[in-house]
Amino acid sequence: MCAATHSGNDDGAHDRDPTWSMDTAVVHLGRPPREPGAPLNIPMEPASTFHAADSPGDVFEYARDGTRAAEAFETAIGDLEGGTAVSYSSGMAAATAMLDRVPLGGVVVAPRSCYAGVSARLLYLAKHQRITLRSVDIADTDSVLKALPDAHLLWLESPTNPLLQVADIFALTEAAHSVGAQVLCDNTFATPLGQRPLSLGADFVLHSATKFIGGHSDLLAGVLVTADPEVSAELRHTRITLGSMPGTLEVFLALRGLRTLALRWSRAQASAASLAERLVAHPAVSRVRYPGLSTDPGFALAQRQMNGGGAVLSVEVAAGAEAAQRLCSRTRLWVHSTSLGGVESLIERRRRWPAETSEVPESLVRLSVGIEDVEDLWNDLIAALA
Ligand code: PLP
Repeated sequence: MCAATHSGNDDGAHDRDPTWSMDTAVVHLGRPPREPGAPLNIPMEPASTFHAADSPGDVFEYARDGTRAAEAFETAIGDLEGGTAVSYSSGMAAATAMLDRVPLGGVVVAPRSCYAGVSARLLYLAKHQRITLRSVDIADTDSVLKALPDAHLLWLESPTNPLLQVADIFALTEAAHSVGAQVLCDNTFATPLGQRPLSLGADFVLHSATKFIGGHSDLLAGVLVTADPEVSAELRHTRITLGSMPGTLEVFLALRGLRTLALRWSRAQASAASLAERLVAHPAVSRVRYPGLSTDPGFALAQRQMNGGGAVLSVEVAAGAEAAQRLCSRTRLWVHSTSLGGVESLIERRRRWPAETSEVPESLVRLSVGIEDVEDLWNDLIAALA
């Protein structure tokens, strides 16, 4: 094993039984070999340096190059997404590593509205002539197709944060490949249980593991997955020099969070669907955005490429931005807080952030549905809306 160049996903001890469902796999992937006396979980090793081997690269030597905990986490996520995973200190570190691969001046076609941190980074790189940015409505397949010629990278996020727009991953990937562009899909909102972009043709999958994968609002981590082992080796090497390794505690927690992903996801998704249906009929709400609703513009596509509508929805408050802000401060169960994907339900008016694009209505409130009792969530929401 070479710590610096190790692929991270080729340790036979972690191989998945092909008969396992994804729900079983999240519980068992990335564990140490089943040997007498061996721990069930990857032990936490707070160490920056390790005893050296005679030949460099035979063992883990320096934690910025790789750690056992990160390797175990990468084994699990790589398997779930159907590729080889490289982990990072945050979702943004993973996004930065990906954008670092675009040649100077290269064309990046990206959503006009997606996670605000990614949008801000794309705008920064374009402003400094590092990339050429073409912003598109990724739910409008024809307009994306028109923007693709001479592109290097098509950046997809589906569903998007916070508009919950759905991109046709299969059709857009096919078109991007026909003009020589590569495709990244940010799968944070769908999780590997809800959508597998590599199987739809995408070249890269990105996760903010800070969200559903970690699931407890107690860590920052990111991951990039690719089906091409050579590309993942390049990413791994670049991560060493970028210095964006995740910390050992963070990957330990992310892996522990992953064990309950299937349970958390199915409950949160069912609650989100139920709340979306009820909110559509609420007089204080002018619009509900949720790809699991049959009336949503993304519904048909979501049915094709996702396994459910996810656990995040957005609502527009009919009385406007101030009323939306008031709603966030009035809930007693929903936590007024940024981020998403944790066990606790979070509520936030996204335009309170200056970096959020003007595509997002001022009155839009994003709801990240957790695992509480759905009736408690509903009662708290309608009391605050009243
Ligand atoms: N991608 C999406 C869709 C996100 O929502 C976020 C953060 O909210 C990120 C990427 C960035 O992840 P992180 O906060 O872990 O850097």
